[in-house]
Amino acid sequence: MSKQDYYDLLGVGRGASADEIKKAYRKMAMQFHPDRNPGDAAAEQKFKEINEAYDVLKDDQKRSAYDRFGHAAFEQGGGRGGGPGDFGFGGGFADIFDEMFGEMMGGGRRGQATGRGADLRYDMEISLEDAFAGKSATIRVPTSAVCEECKGTGGRDGAQPVTCSTCHGHGKVRSQQGFFTIERTCPTCQGMGRIIKDPCRACGGTGRVRKEKQLSVTIPAGVEDGTRIRLAGEGEAGMRGAPAGDLYIFLSLKAHRLFQREGANIFCRVPIPMVTATLGGTIEVPTIDGGKAKVVIPEGTQTGHQFRLRGKGMSVLRSPSRGDMFIQATIETPVNLTPRQIELLREFESAGEEKKGGNSPESHGFFARVKEFWEDLKEG
Ligand SMILES: [Zn+2]
Ligand SMILES: [Zn+2]
Repeated sequence: MSKQDYYDLLGVGRGASADEIKKAYRKMAMQFHPDRNPGDAAAEQKFKEINEAYDVLKDDQKRSAYDRFGHAAFEQGGGRGGGPGDFGFGGGFADIFDEMFGEMMGGGRRGQATGRGADLRYDMEISLEDAFAGKSATIRVPTSAVCEECKGTGGRDGAQPVTCSTCHGHGKVRSQQGFFTIERTCPTCQGMGRIIKDPCRACGGTGRVRKEKQLSVTIPAGVEDGTRIRLAGEGEAGMRGAPAGDLYIFLSLKAHRLFQREGANIFCRVPIPMVTATLGGTIEVPTIDGGKAKVVIPEGTQTGHQFRLRGKGMSVLRSPSRGDMFIQATIETPVNLTPRQIELLREFESAGEEKKGGNSPESHGFFARVKEFWEDLKEG
C-alpha cells in the first residue's frame, strides 16, 4: 500500500517541467535497466516503478490527476471508479453522508462489497506565509467512526456476523432465466456475504456511527496550490470492521497582497521613486520569511528591470533549499508637483546635452527605428 511518490522516484520536484521529468527518467532508466543489472531483482523492481512513474508524469492529464489524488487516482475500485479523466468528485468525495447512507441502504459501492470506508475530502485554505514556513493545524471532520458499542462488528454486544444462508457467503446469487444465468448481488446480505442476526442498537448493524473527528495535520513547508495531503485510514470507517477510507486534505493558497509565487520563486513589483531610479540609491523590501532585504538600485534603473535576491524565495518541499525572490522595478512618475518643482524640471530638460541620445537613449533609439520604418514604407 505504501507506494513511493512518483516525483521522489524520479528524483524531481513537483514543479518539474516535462523536459526535466524526461531527463530524470532517462537517467534512472539507464541506471536500473535489467540489461545492465542482470539477475538483480531489486533493480528490476525499481526499473518497473520508474516506468510506472514516468508513464503517469509524462501525460499532462494523468499527472494532474496524480497531483490531486496521488496513487489513489489510479487504483481501481477504490471508490473513485473510472480512470484518469473521470475526476469530478462524483465518486469518493461527493457528499460523504450521502454515500454513507447510500451504502447502508444496500447501494454498495460500484458493485464492490468490501465495505471499505469512503475517502473524504477536506478543503483547506492557507496563506503564502504558511506555505512557506509549514504549519500544524487541527481540523474537525464530520465522518463516521467505528461504533464503540459493538467494536465495529455490527452485532449486539460485539457478536460476530454469521455467514449468509442465501448466498453461502459469496455475496452474489445466480438465477436461471431461459438460456441466461443472471448473477446479482445477494439481497439478503447486500453482497457482504455475512449477516447480522441481532444488530447493534447504537449503529443499526453497520458497525459505525456518525461522528466529528478531530485531527491534527502537519502541512510541510513548500506546499503549493493544489497540493493534496493524504491521511491514510483517517477517512470514513469501514462497514463492520472493514478498512477505513483515507482523508485527503486539498490545499489552496490565498492570494498574497504583495507577492506572487511561481514555483519556488517569489515576484514582487516595487515602485521606485524617479529620483532614486535616476541617481541610484537603496530600497528596503519585505521578504516572505518576515524579514527585510536591502536592494541597491543602480543609477539609471528602468521600469521592468528585475533584481534577483538569491535564496529569498519560497521553501521547497522536502528540501532545505529556497527559491529566489525577484524585485520588479516600476519607476514612478512624480505627481502633485509644486510650481518650483515644475520650474526645476523645465530647467533640467533644457540643461541636457544632445549627445549619445541625451538623457533618454531608449526613446532616442525607438524614434530612430520609427523613422527607418517610415522610410522603408515610402520605398516599398
Ligand atoms: Zn454498533
Ligand atoms: Zn448473502
